[in-house]
Parts: sequence; structure tokens; C-alpha cells
Amino acid sequence: MQRRKATFKLYPNASQQKTLEEWTRLHCELYNAGLQDRIEAYRKAGISISYYDQQNALPEIKGFRPELAALGSQALQQTLRRLDLAMQAFFRRVKSGESPGFPRFKSAARFSGFSYPAQAGWKLFQQGSRGATLRLGSGKNAMMIRARGQHRFAEFQPNDLTITRRNGQWFASVTLRVSDEVCARERSGDQQRGVDFGVTDWATFEDGTTIENPRFMRRELPKLAELQRQRARKKKGSCRYKRLTKRLGQIHERIANLRRDFIHKQTAKLVETCAVIATEELKPKNMSGSAKGTAENPSKRVRQKAGLNREILSAGFGMAHQMLAYKAVEAGTRLHLANTRQLKPSQRCCACWELTPKTLAERTHVCQHCGHTMPRDQNSAAVVLIDAYVISERNTPGTGVAVRSKPLARQRAKPRSKTRETPTTTALAV
Ligand SMILES: [Zn+2]
Repeated sequence: MQRRKATFKLYPNASQQKTLEEWTRLHCELYNAGLQDRIEAYRKAGISISYYDQQNALPEIKGFRPELAALGSQALQQTLRRLDLAMQAFFRRVKSGESPGFPRFKSAARFSGFSYPAQAGWKLFQQGSRGATLRLGSGKNAMMIRARGQHRFAEFQPNDLTITRRNGQWFASVTLRVSDEVCARERSGDQQRGVDFGVTDWATFEDGTTIENPRFMRRELPKLAELQRQRARKKKGSCRYKRLTKRLGQIHERIANLRRDFIHKQTAKLVETCAVIATEELKPKNMSGSAKGTAENPSKRVRQKAGLNREILSAGFGMAHQMLAYKAVEAGTRLHLANTRQLKPSQRCCACWELTPKTLAERTHVCQHCGHTMPRDQNSAAVVLIDAYVISERNTPGTGVAVRSKPLARQRAKPRSKTRETPTTTALAV
């Protein structure tokens, strides 16, 4: 069994939108009240309140706040669970010696939404290839919200539902549990490829072919900058300020959508044509480059640039790795993630396997030992591909890392139930 997420865009009418806003506000209120409760109990009596204490208090709360009943008890419980997770994360980080911020009270405007952990209180009806209707609530007060979206597993009923609001738009994400056979992708080729993900070219292969980096962000930068300039002249919190904020959000969202679409298509193409894909494990630290500039030439707007770096680099590569991982499983492709520290693919020579130290700026690999010359990224791709073979020949782990990580905190914290035994697929590979 595999779990797959599908997201639908919602098109609520005016009154439905009002209800969604209202429900989000109530969920937020519950979250804040739960937090308040925990803080007070601890301050006054030194007691820590558990999730179950709060869950058991829900019926009583619903007694004097009858408007909460329409939200569904499971959804309310889920919001309390969300608070519990925030607290757990806080204490875990304190324990491990970090200095995390205490979970905060949230404003209704920033509260992202709410979820239903099981198939109760809602139903999704698929119509045709893209159309859908989401029923929220039950009885005569149920809302039928128009939705659009598509996934590969049309005949499967989703398991849980999360409603989120982003830039004033509403989305419904559902989790589907599908069998391995249904997830399977057909593979059209048996190539064996090494790939190096980078900034100049999005991907470089061991034979020197590349996939250009589309740089969706860069194309929109002048427009973003102009809007930001305009907004800086407006009074904070004014109508015009808000309008510009909304437009900025829309552009950022469009960039994110384009990027996600690009990565989906490229990773799908890769796993469908390859029997083996070798690449480096993810190393976000190396990537976030020079936002601060150098000592002689410090760059301005460090934070903005850092933000940009983050967006262009880590988001894209993290996403690509995740998608490669689960799609490789679906296509039966072996994904090899080389251990960067041990292997040093950018310094190792793919011809003689010796190391030639070089800086980030040196774009060509010239081997000190055998004289082999090759573009830097192509050499790295070739090195990780060879590394993938070390595994199969000697039948040892080589430098490859097992990417099957421990279950996510969210799943660990959830009480065990009979129906959900499969971890999410995003952290899954080989
Ligand atoms: Zn060499």
C-alpha cells in the first residue's frame, strides 16, 4: 500500500467562503484556547495538560459553544492534535539543547486551515477527468463546494482531508491509499545515468547532456521588485498595501506552481527512461551560496537574496529528490544516492578515482594525477554513476545511503489506528 496526496482547488461561492472563513476562525480560536489552557494550568498548578485531557474536554466545550458542533468532532480533535504536535516539537528541541520559540498564539488571518483525519464529515465526488465536488458537513447544512483537480487514481476514495487557505484561495488536499500495482509506472527505457543537479544547468548528466535551469523566479524579478517598491510607499495595513501584498503573493505562487510542474515532468521523464539513476544525497548547506557577499564586496539586501537562494535552490532540489525517490519506486528504477562526504564527487576523477581539490568557481575538472579533463558537473555525474556500480558488484552499501528514514514526527505522534499503517511515500526510496 502506498499513500499519495492529491490537491484540489476549491471554488466556494460567497456564502460558502464566509463559512470556510468562519470555521477557520473557530479552529484557530480552539487552538489558541488550548494553548492558553496549557500555559495556565502549568503556571497555576504546575500541571501539564495532555492531548487526551483536551480531547475529553471537547464535548463540554461544545456545550457552551454550540457553533463548534458544525465543524465535526474529528476535525476539532485534529486541531488539538496539531497543538499537541507543536508542544511536542518544542519540548523535543529544548531537550536536544536548542532554543526554540514557545508555540505561539495564532491570528485567524494566518491560521492556514483545518483537517479531517478520517472519512467522516466530508466526501469528495469526482466528476469527469478534472471536475469534483466536495461535501463538507452533513445533513441539510452540508456545503457542496465546486472543486477542480486531477489525480492518477480516480477510482480510489481519499482517506483524510485538509482544507487550506493560501493567498485568499482555498484548497483541499486528500490522501489516497493505493496499491503498489496501481501506483506503478511503465518504464520505456533501461538507461543508467548519473546526474548532478546544479544552478547553471538544472541537471548535468554523465555524458555531458544537460537540462537547462528554467529560472522562473529570475524572469519575474523585475515585476516583483517594482511591486515591492510600490508597496513600500503605501501605508502599512491600508487597502492599497493589502492589494499589492495580494498581487505579490499571487506572483510567488505562480512561480512555485511553474517550478513544481517543471520538476514533476523532469523527474517523471527520468525515472521512466532509466533503470538506474545515481546522484548525490541532498546537501542544502553547500547550495545556499553567497547571499552575504564577500568582505570586500558585501551585498545589499542580504535577507532578500538569501530568500531567493532558498527558493531557487533548496526548494527545487529538495522537491526533485523527493519526487525522484517515490517515482523511482513506482517505476522500479534503482535510485542511488551517493554519500557526498565520503565520495566527494566534485573532486574525484571519474577516470582514475583520485582526488583533485578545487574551489566552487572552477568549472572544469583537470585531474592532477592522470590529466583527465572534463566539465566539472559532468565529472561529478560520472563519479556518482560509478559509485552506484560499486554497490551492485561488491554487493555492499558502497557510499550510498539508505534513504528510508524514520517516520515523520507527525505520524509518530498520531495514535495508532488499524486503518493507517503505511508511512507517507515522500521519505521513501530504493
Ligand atoms: Zn584522474
